[in-house]
Amino acid sequence: MKIGLEIHVQLPTRSKMFCSCPTTGADRPNQHICPGCMGMPGTRPALNKAAVEIGIRLAKLLNCTVPDVIWFSRKIYFYPDLCNHYQITQYETPIGAKGVYYLGKKPIRITRAHLEEDPGSMKKSGDTALIDYNRSGMPLVEIVTEPDIATPAEAREFLTALLKDIRHVVDLPDDGERSIRVDCNISMGSERCEVKNVSGLKNVERALTFEAVRQTKVLKAGGRITRETRHYDEERRVTTGARKKEYESDYAYIGEPNLGIFYVKNIADTIVAKESPQNMAARLDREFGIGERIAKQIVNTSVRLAELFEHIAKKTDSQCAVKWVTGPISSGWKAVEADIDSKKDAIIETVVLFRDGKINDIECSKRLKALISGDDPDSIEKQSADLDVIIRKAIAENPSVIGDYRKNDKAANRIIGAVMRETGSTYSSSDIVEATKRILDEMIT
Ligand SMILES: [Zn+2]
Repeated sequence: MKIGLEIHVQLPTRSKMFCSCPTTGADRPNQHICPGCMGMPGTRPALNKAAVEIGIRLAKLLNCTVPDVIWFSRKIYFYPDLCNHYQITQYETPIGAKGVYYLGKKPIRITRAHLEEDPGSMKKSGDTALIDYNRSGMPLVEIVTEPDIATPAEAREFLTALLKDIRHVVDLPDDGERSIRVDCNISMGSERCEVKNVSGLKNVERALTFEAVRQTKVLKAGGRITRETRHYDEERRVTTGARKKEYESDYAYIGEPNLGIFYVKNIADTIVAKESPQNMAARLDREFGIGERIAKQIVNTSVRLAELFEHIAKKTDSQCAVKWVTGPISSGWKAVEADIDSKKDAIIETVVLFRDGKINDIECSKRLKALISGDDPDSIEKQSADLDVIIRKAIAENPSVIGDYRKNDKAANRIIGAVMRETGSTYSSSDIVEATKRILDEMIT
């Protein structure tokens, strides 16, 4: 099975790609349009420099080569949702070419990443199609991969990691996974089909899985796969044949004469690639030897948490940093992230005291929780003492758990489950897990 993806990401600029219409805040169809994005005679496109900068940042994230000079082309076709009947896109000089993105250790080759304008959106209503041009002219980057993806699940994993990285690197707002649209190419034999315009990562996996099964059935029955563009029906969860696949030669590309040629080397030189979350996880594992799973867990919670981890690990050691960052600091992270700058030093200091043996486990945990929640340390102490009592009682009711725990520490789950049921949402699950294991460890030694 071979899978290649074409990913369309809308760029977070304030105005459209070639005119000054705003990109957000429309409360009715066809509100944010102007003679330019409606293709009126006598108008000329003007390139949005911010879109070029973001394009270069993405190209660098994907380890692509950025050309010194770029220009745009008209992709001519019949587009009911683009008034010009051509789409302004990049053909010969994509903003990024020949890159590679590492999914863990697996390289996924990037063919190209190019800038283009989005068409409007169409809505069917009975026999009529309604067109909203608010989206027409929005800046997009289209990222095209080589067919290096092996399974539908890997496609989803790749998109999840890539989207996280893109959000961080270009400050794309997190408005759900539907903000990207994907064309999925998949072949089980020699010919491929393309499922167009799938939105949402879950749908990408479903559409690809459906296609893999369909194509396998056709081939097993002695049939042939014809190259075609298919459509994914989200409700019925099937793909249906839409039209014969167009080849690039079906489109007449000509240079866009109204825009000219742009020298972008000086912009590209000033843009320093920001470290992506996936690269950061790999680096934390490499530098601190904490393992891929823990590194990803920390970075995926938040890049700022990972930065805090780095500070703590440098001041103490990596084991100590993992213990406290994945424990009380992670579980209270949501509450503290916004004002972490004012609390960071006190948190680091507390862990240093623990490393130096000046405070014990329980004291360190109590102080960290108080710092994070802003609650009084005494009330936290009382709460944790109450939790200890509940856990000891649960163990007394199931005495066999102590012997079982000695053989296999998974036996603790019985107590953890019982305590969670009893206390509801009073304690965080990580507090219950931590206290139960601490008490059982004391009992078996
Ligand atoms: Zn406009």
